Amino acid sequence: MEIKKVAVIGAGTMGNGIAQVFAMNNYSVTLVDVSVRALGKATETIIKNTDRMVAKGTITEAVRDAALKNIVTSPSFESCKDADLVVEAATENVDIKLGIFKQLDEICKPETILASNTSSISITKIGAATKRPDKVIGMHFMNPVPLMKLVELIKGYATSDDCVKQITTCARMLGKIPVEVNDYPGFVANRILMPMINEAIETLHEGVAGVNEIDTVMKLGMAHPMGPLQLADFIGLDVCLAILRVLHDGFGNPKYAPCPLLVNMVTANYLGVKTGEGFYKYTAGSKDLLVSDRFKTGG
Ligand code: NAD
Repeated sequence: MEIKKVAVIGAGTMGNGIAQVFAMNNYSVTLVDVSVRALGKATETIIKNTDRMVAKGTITEAVRDAALKNIVTSPSFESCKDADLVVEAATENVDIKLGIFKQLDEICKPETILASNTSSISITKIGAATKRPDKVIGMHFMNPVPLMKLVELIKGYATSDDCVKQITTCARMLGKIPVEVNDYPGFVANRILMPMINEAIETLHEGVAGVNEIDTVMKLGMAHPMGPLQLADFIGLDVCLAILRVLHDGFGNPKYAPCPLLVNMVTANYLGVKTGEGFYKYTAGSKDLLVSDRFKTGG
């Protein structure tokens, strides 16, 4: 089956980037979200991002215009019924994802591939909620999707080799580099990244150093392009907490227990970039990286 029509479920941080990348590569895209507000915001983000790419000379105006024409938005799952591939990028919550895959399994054609952009949840478990576990796969894009080359392809216990092959080809068509991994909690990317982020938060929580100091040590000392606390804000602290919980439950190892400071921040809705404040505070239009007043030390 040639993949031409794609549906993306979830129009948040990741969903809008995934929709943009497919649309820029001539796929017809339906972007679906239960929140009409999220759909409006995603459309604005895609327009802003593609305008910026035109201004920088990365894409032509013709590519931008064609990409924008390739995307439609919808609050209804019924709009996925003709899709050859669905990429789910909804909230990192197992019950939400199982519910979505059960619905998609009923609505979509039998040959449609159902992929999840989950950061950590078992693809095998998601596949088992459908009648087509051989066509369920992890297609884990990195943030920001238009810039990051990697797609982690997660092969569930029942995922067929043919499905892996088709999604490998599709990822390459998007200009990405797919890397195939097996299905264990956090896969490879987040099994390694999240303990580092959690340890950075623990280091802050214990007062070993401040936000700037921790991020600067990791940027200058380890050549990371972004410090772990800034990266956590960028990913979303709720997403980080959800992934750590999957690692903690999945391996039963206390080393993955989320730092209580992270839990508190998520409970208080200080989620990072998406809510305007996390370890840093974010004001629209400002490029300065300002540490949140809550973590300001000294004078
Ligand atoms: P987000 O919170 O920014 O967006 C999630 C969107 O899903 C929201 O717009 C919400 O309205 C929508 N949603 C919730 N329930 C839904 C449903 N039943 N049907 C349709 N839409 C629904 O989250 P995000 O950061 O974009 O993460 C999405 C997925 O991508 C998660 O699985 C996450 O683990 C994964 N991921 C995130 C990052 C990151 O850096 N944020 C990176 C890689 C993968």
